[in-house]
Amino acid sequence: MTKKKSLQTLLTTTDYKPPVGFAAFPTAIHHASTVLFKDVAALRARNWQDKNAYTYGLHGTPTTFTLEARLAEIEGGTHCLLAPSGLAAIAMIDFALLKTGDDVLIPENVYGPNRELGNWLAKDFGIAARYYDPLIGEGIAELIQDNTRLIWTEAPGSVSMEMPDIPSICRAAHARGVLVALDNTWSSGLAFRAFDHDVDVVMQALTKYQSGGSDILMGAVITRDKSIHQKIELAHMRLGMGVSADDVYLVLRGLSSMKLRFEAHDAGARVVANWLKYRDEIAHVLHPAFPECPGHEIWKRDFTGAAGLFSVIFNERYSEAQTDAFIDALQLFKIGYSWGGANSLCVPYRMQTMRQQWTQAGQLVRLNIGLEDPQDLIADLEQALRVLN
Ligand SMILES: *Cc1c(COP(=O)(O)O)cnc(C)c1O
Repeated sequence: MTKKKSLQTLLTTTDYKPPVGFAAFPTAIHHASTVLFKDVAALRARNWQDKNAYTYGLHGTPTTFTLEARLAEIEGGTHCLLAPSGLAAIAMIDFALLKTGDDVLIPENVYGPNRELGNWLAKDFGIAARYYDPLIGEGIAELIQDNTRLIWTEAPGSVSMEMPDIPSICRAAHARGVLVALDNTWSSGLAFRAFDHDVDVVMQALTKYQSGGSDILMGAVITRDKSIHQKIELAHMRLGMGVSADDVYLVLRGLSSMKLRFEAHDAGARVVANWLKYRDEIAHVLHPAFPECPGHEIWKRDFTGAAGLFSVIFNERYSEAQTDAFIDALQLFKIGYSWGGANSLCVPYRMQTMRQQWTQAGQLVRLNIGLEDPQDLIADLEQALRVLN
């Protein structure tokens, strides 16, 4: 082409090539909806499932494939798919592995929207969703039916903090050819090695510690079995589970500090939880590293650490209005959902409406311990507790 290009054409074409010989630590942020093919033969030859080639931005770019590969490696799996949120990752697992007529078992203490999704599958999709006691352990065998396809687990339940016996559940499930999915967000894949304990499908809300910035929503599904991965990959494609390269970049950026942050959250949370344990206002500290937390022995057996998230149950003499006033009086702790970021958070939960068999009378309040000095957090709790007395 010798004719000088018009301004409009110049504005829309680029000869940019990533520079050869430029080396740096960060993964480049590749944005694309359209991926270009050099000719029709190349277009026809390419398969959207091939992670060594690219077909369309929704299926992945070098940036998203890099995060997928790194997450699979970190978790000890072989395949990973990203989703726009942790909840989207949960939905992708359900739609990939369940169909009308199937049965799914979900723990009663599961992340609320996972339960809500189960209710929807049951109501509108002809899938039986049954809820089980998270401390059931091997007893799950008695609940497995011929049409049971999937058992959800979460370790621990991220509000009431019961720690399930994952190896026992996996043993019972696998004896009947049933898959086990684990919401492994609390351990970040660091403190609990799910595949070593025989879990089939691991889900992570990258929104939490992988991001660490209270700014990203993203999820991941990690597997180590090609045929399970392929089912999830089909759901990923059919449901259009794309993620933003900018967000992926921020998660990649957070990974290098994740273990240091996780350990700092863990240490801080144990200091704060230990202080709360001796307060007269608190009836129970629900932190898996503390003996009074249901499933503590399992945590000790299977986990190498704890996250910064735990709950407390107030003495039953305090009304909801009083514990709400306590939360409102906090200054360093902010009020809000989610966790895993640098700032401490606090949320009250109405357990009687969430769980049919909830027997504790006192108010449950969940704390996310950020990266502030634990002594400052304790001082904040101490001044806020004064509103109760
Ligand atoms: C936050 C969270 C999710 C969902 O993640 P989102 O990205 O907020 O959708 C799922 N499971 C657990 C345990 C979580 O804490």
